[in-house]
Amino acid sequence: MASVSKLIKKVLNKYLTSVPNSSINKSVYLPKIFEILTTKKDLEILLTLPNNPKNVAKSLSLSEKEAAIALSDLYMRGFIWVEENTKDGPKYCFADVGILMDSVLFDPRYDKYGNEFFDIWKKYWNEEHVHMYQLDNTFRVLPVEEVIRSTKIIPYERISQIIKKARRVAVQRCACRVRERRCNYPLETCISLDNLADYVISRDIGREISVKEAFKIVDECEELGLIHQTVNSDTPDVLCNCCACCCSFLRSILYYGKKAASAKSRYMAIFDREKCANCKDLVCIERCVFGGITKRDGKLHIDHSMCWGCGLCASVCPENAVKMKEVKKSSHIPRSGDKIYPLTTPKEK
Ligand code: SF4
Ligand code: SF4
Ligand code: SF4
Repeated sequence: MASVSKLIKKVLNKYLTSVPNSSINKSVYLPKIFEILTTKKDLEILLTLPNNPKNVAKSLSLSEKEAAIALSDLYMRGFIWVEENTKDGPKYCFADVGILMDSVLFDPRYDKYGNEFFDIWKKYWNEEHVHMYQLDNTFRVLPVEEVIRSTKIIPYERISQIIKKARRVAVQRCACRVRERRCNYPLETCISLDNLADYVISRDIGREISVKEAFKIVDECEELGLIHQTVNSDTPDVLCNCCACCCSFLRSILYYGKKAASAKSRYMAIFDREKCANCKDLVCIERCVFGGITKRDGKLHIDHSMCWGCGLCASVCPENAVKMKEVKKSSHIPRSGDKIYPLTTPKEK
């Protein structure tokens, strides 16, 4: 009989070889996480995926009911996802280690393992994941809507439209802040839409919210200087409100030199020297986490290579001296239909 550690190795080899840089198979931290979270039975089931309860039952000599219960349990714990619902029940799969990380960290039930558990994830992300995964242009910065109102906004970069258009809206805690714990920003800021909203509600790790409440969260996050980001496509299914210290995408840019981790918005901050009162708090500089605004020889400068077009500086300037200018065509946003959560939720037969 294979030992648990051998089974963990098998599971990681099976599911992680598809990762572009397969050295992730040599991860030191993922086996530790699996040791804490999985049993031998879980691992045996994981090795049979992708599959539906009927076939899992056959492979492991279980009754169909036992297999369905075990699969549903792994789903509720964030370990597996539903690729499609078939006539023989949900077809479960192991999607991706990045999705696994979020699925676990979204879930407050894992708090029982304490900070040591989250430290393993933190080390995993900062020492392994960020160096092995290509995040290029997965996400994109969304500008504060108020400061781009006078321009031609595309519906899927207009935050209010993105929220209003969603079939369902939910909010769950911010997985990056749970993992990194480097600030005191609120946790309940990760807004999920459509399938992702179905997912967090089905696992009871997020709560359904109204459009009005979603707007309120967005406003509060802007006040705090959190940066809006979404999936870099024309079908956004998440509305993240991110801090530079914890967010996987912003950390990749600011601390690991991976500047393409989150694409810039189509806008750029433009400075009007005539209007600038050189206000003593320099709120524009303070708001720019990218270091795009500096003061030299008593004058402010915007380094456009370091402007991601978030609009946070323009939204606070008391003199209206910073404007957001449209600098990229609409084709800057891929019309790929990509979603951050391209999966579904289980429908029992
Ligand atoms: S991307 Fe942003 S809001 Fe989403 S989990 Fe990470 S920091 Fe939180
Ligand atoms: S916030 Fe506005 S007025 Fe103050 S320094 Fe910046 S640009 Fe000038
Ligand atoms: S200068 Fe900084 S704060 Fe202003 S829009 Fe650019 S990235 Fe955002």
